[in-house]
Amino acid sequence: MTDIGEIVRDIAEEMASRTDRGRVADYIAPLAEVDPMRFGLAVIEADGTCHLAGDAEAPFSIQSVSKVFALTLALGKVGDALWHRVGREPSGSAFNSIVQLETESGIPRNPFINAGAIVVSDIVLAGHQPREAVGEILRFARALAGEDAIFVDERVARAEQETGFRNAALANYMRAFGNLKHPVEQTLGVYFHQCAIAMSCRQLALAGRYLMLGGRNPGTGRSVVSAARARRINALMMTCGHYDGSGEFAYRVGLSGKSGVGGGILAVAPGRASIAVWSPGLNERGNSQIGTLALERLVQRTGWSVFEPN
Ligand code: GLU
Repeated sequence: MTDIGEIVRDIAEEMASRTDRGRVADYIAPLAEVDPMRFGLAVIEADGTCHLAGDAEAPFSIQSVSKVFALTLALGKVGDALWHRVGREPSGSAFNSIVQLETESGIPRNPFINAGAIVVSDIVLAGHQPREAVGEILRFARALAGEDAIFVDERVARAEQETGFRNAALANYMRAFGNLKHPVEQTLGVYFHQCAIAMSCRQLALAGRYLMLGGRNPGTGRSVVSAARARRINALMMTCGHYDGSGEFAYRVGLSGKSGVGGGILAVAPGRASIAVWSPGLNERGNSQIGTLALERLVQRTGWSVFEPN
């Protein structure tokens, strides 16, 4: 029998000793200040067994991992009509790239690059004040995790807002094509606050359970999304969840995964586990360096890659 607890402990021990930790994001002070030696890992198996190691209980800025929850929420509101405004192809470009927007008439390549996530925020905002839309995303994350101690880090949100010129450029550009329906400041306000949600690895792995269990939240016993939609969100995470490093992540790890510049990754082994890892140092594509390595080790030892023949 594979002892998952032992594997998780071994991985945490190995990762603690690694010195090749990448570079912490430095575009805003609250992220630049995070200690690159931090490491957390949470693995929740399909039967609910939870394995934690390192800083698995420490809240960190989930940043773009929030794009998975916002997408799920937006699909719940408008269904497949969402795909008239956002594509489903990997971009092969950096997370904040603007180049494809010009050739593709303001339709972002996928919901996980910044431009796509800004359109998703615009969809969540429909019929709400920005504050209510942020509250809705936050409540959704809390409901998925089954915990209330999940919050927006206002200092991060403010810093994102003060420095988000490039996101503002993306938003204005899409608005010029009619692909944003609300004032740019409002849509960006929602986007920046959703990026500023802080969660621990344990909370993130709890929140990801619906993606491992065909759309069902085991905390409530209810379906968050249909099995088909859960499968499709997983597919998008696999193909687009790591920006221009998505191919490399599929090659090395073979799980659906979504990364954030805070150094977090939510990864899903359907039917097996919901996994969250955090190590703030990033590789050259903006994905957690040690976090990716930890996931690579985990699939090597468990055989959980979706490409494993079992
Ligand atoms: N708040 C970041 C931005 O929009 C999120 C990027 C990320 O996590 O990749 O630039």
